[in-house]
Amino acid sequence: MSTIVNATLIYGLVQTPVAVEGATTEKELVKFNLFHDPCDTQLKSPRMCPSCDKPPTPSEVIRGFKTPSGLLIKVTNDEYDVIHKSRQPVIVIDKFISWQGTENLPVRKSYYLISKDKLTDAYHVLSQTMAELEVDAMGRVNLWDRERPFKLVSISQGLLMMQVMFTADEIVDLPFQPDRYLNPGELDFARLVVQERMDTFSPADLAIEANQQMRKLGEAKAAGKAAPKVSKQKPLVPTSNLMETLEASLKSKPSRKKKVAA
Ligand SMILES: [Zn+2]
Repeated sequence: MSTIVNATLIYGLVQTPVAVEGATTEKELVKFNLFHDPCDTQLKSPRMCPSCDKPPTPSEVIRGFKTPSGLLIKVTNDEYDVIHKSRQPVIVIDKFISWQGTENLPVRKSYYLISKDKLTDAYHVLSQTMAELEVDAMGRVNLWDRERPFKLVSISQGLLMMQVMFTADEIVDLPFQPDRYLNPGELDFARLVVQERMDTFSPADLAIEANQQMRKLGEAKAAGKAAPKVSKQKPLVPTSNLMETLEASLKSKPSRKKKVAA
């Protein structure tokens, strides 16, 4: 597992260094190509083998793929049909699972499923039942390039959202975390720091200020004005006395809304 970037995690006045590491890696797909069986040359055109300088007979053309070490693996049509499942426009639910326990699974991409059923309420009956029972659905889909696991979630207004997940071999093992004895006093302060900053989610939490700042910069430059000032980042100093810093965080008033530099 490679460290992507080092960063500082900040809450209140506390600053603590962290390594940001990927929880998932996208596994390369095996790419099949056509080869001239007698000479193992990859065919750019099925009508000509560049090595033999002659057209291969149909029985001499075979599918294969190269391993990372460069070894050519040839597969027969029967073998290919077994391992290569072609895409299918179906979303089959294998089972339903409780909401709890899967919320931390990394999602690759989310899609709305929109009902096109004019005959029955099959979609809506499922969606409402899943919401009532507080369950998600799981299964596997192959709508695009490859077969992937999915989780179907009943979201607001009876809509179903399909979350396409990473495959098991794409999820990186949890990094090792040794057991720690935590100071009860520090935990008490941390609890207060968190409680002081509790709030409800708002869609504005997903807004990114940089987009707004970039617009303002453009407007200012177009009008021939000086660029708006951008507030400077405070220096990053890892916290050494945690108890003291947690206590000081309580006294420092939490800023509910970040100010956008005017
Ligand atoms: Zn050849």
